[in-house]
Amino acid sequence: MIIEGIGASSGISIGKVFKLQKEKIVTSNQKIEDVKREIELLEKAIKKSEVEIRKIRDKTVKTIDKKHGAIFEAHLEILRDPELYGETVKIIKDEKLNAARAFQITVNNFVNLFEEMENEYMRERAGDILDVSNRVLAHLLNIGIKDPGLLEKEAVIVAEDLTPTDTASLNKKYVKGFATETGGRTGHSAIMARTLEIPAVVGTKNIMRNTEDGDIIIIDGTKGLAIINPNQNQLDKYKDLLKHHTDNIKRLKKYANKKSKTKDGRTVELGGNIGSPADLQGVTDNGGEGIGLYRTEFLFMGKQYCPTEEEQFQAYKEVLEKMKDRPVIIRTLDIGGDKSVEYIGSKGEMNPFLGHRAIRLCLEQHDIFKDQIRALLRASIYGNLKIMFPMIATIEELRDAKKMIELSKEELIEEGVKINREVEVGIMIEVPSAAILADQFAKEVDFFSIGTNDLIQYTFAADRMNEKVSYLYQPYNPALLRLIKMVVDASHKEGKWTGICGEIAGNEKMTPLLIGLGIDELSMSASSILKIRENISKIQYKDAADIAKKALNMNSSKEVEKLLKENF
Ligand code: PEP
Ligand code: MG
Repeated sequence: MIIEGIGASSGISIGKVFKLQKEKIVTSNQKIEDVKREIELLEKAIKKSEVEIRKIRDKTVKTIDKKHGAIFEAHLEILRDPELYGETVKIIKDEKLNAARAFQITVNNFVNLFEEMENEYMRERAGDILDVSNRVLAHLLNIGIKDPGLLEKEAVIVAEDLTPTDTASLNKKYVKGFATETGGRTGHSAIMARTLEIPAVVGTKNIMRNTEDGDIIIIDGTKGLAIINPNQNQLDKYKDLLKHHTDNIKRLKKYANKKSKTKDGRTVELGGNIGSPADLQGVTDNGGEGIGLYRTEFLFMGKQYCPTEEEQFQAYKEVLEKMKDRPVIIRTLDIGGDKSVEYIGSKGEMNPFLGHRAIRLCLEQHDIFKDQIRALLRASIYGNLKIMFPMIATIEELRDAKKMIELSKEELIEEGVKINREVEVGIMIEVPSAAILADQFAKEVDFFSIGTNDLIQYTFAADRMNEKVSYLYQPYNPALLRLIKMVVDASHKEGKWTGICGEIAGNEKMTPLLIGLGIDELSMSASSILKIRENISKIQYKDAADIAKKALNMNSSKEVEKLLKENF
């Protein structure tokens, strides 16, 4: 059976299905009579959770490091906490409540208590308690927990949806690919898949209904297909394709230490997009000349609390030190849209992508924004940092955001902390208003980086997560090309530069067009860098500029695609 979807991360994987089904944890007020039995159930659930967490801890120590393993050590301590157990048993006995509800009440009381504490460390423990208790509750309610973190064999994950946090926690060693029912090419799970270099297909309607655990599945992330229980012919064909793909990767290695230069000598910087310090290796292995986009929100996701200034500082410092003098563009927090975080931001918005997102949220939640800016400035002396604001729509937003940098600089200098006072500041061009007013913005920033994932969704008014309107994701459309051109020209006029860090930067077919439009930098998933460098080495800038000029005067994506096909 072949299920069509949207190719989210190219490459091919063949493996066995591991279905990730998530169930909601809902407890009831049901009274019980057999108190002893209920206490036994509680003890059993705690024991089971203990065994599992120990396993996860051991695996984490082995595959990551001791420091990460310690998180689970702390979880084990919570599980063994005599008060947590004692209070639950008391409620079961006094109120004759079932164990699950009694446990949930106790946990909530604990969490509330911890959340109100002055000490930040103690406040953070509230999140850990919730994490652990969900596991115990799932056992009490007989909800099967399928933990991709516990995978011990290679598998292909099939799920209705994977949150960006789920994707970030996937273990590349075992997860060979994934297919989800929802999502679009520029949704953040798809982006994470490309960062992790895991072949993936999204928007595969009904795949959950049509697969069983252990089925053989082929993921064709390039064409956007999932083939379930393939026949021998299909298997043979895909094994060949897989080999071809691997050979191609080997062939491209020769571009790893080369400059990105057109035939007639125009250089274009190629950077990598990352979501955490762990993604750096992929970028350096693939010859990235810098980091064009560090999506810092992944530091905030999958947690129950905001990372502290110190935690952030350590992460930024690590990236800057490892990249030495190569540029590292760190984007400030972009929460909202499809990247939600439990503890920040508005819930239940009608249109999250048009809502309280990114810089809008930061300019309101000053404490969170300030922690991040301080952490960035402290890290600024460890490498070549550039700070970038996402989703800027108006000049006032830019000025307010820059004020936060100035304020934090003054504060840190007063505290005697060393910082780079000249750190460059740029903005993402993601909202059409900023593209249209780029000539004005160019006077007040050091650089632009065009976020085409969002710029396309806002230009065509088409939700990037909704597969029904994915036909409006039109990167070749002259409407978008004209916006790009306006931004590039505006920046050059002021002696500044423009890059692209949206997914089109890694689109092989678009390289001549983007170079022809005068783009100075492209930043993409690590796995695309070498291919794009090869493409650039085959282009004459002069020819590309002529073609781009023609494309700007066409009237549809189709015409532009045809023009490119005929010329490159
Ligand atoms: C973009 O919008 O193109 C971009 C790079 O930002 P994100 O995908 O994180 O929204
Ligand atoms: Mg964006």
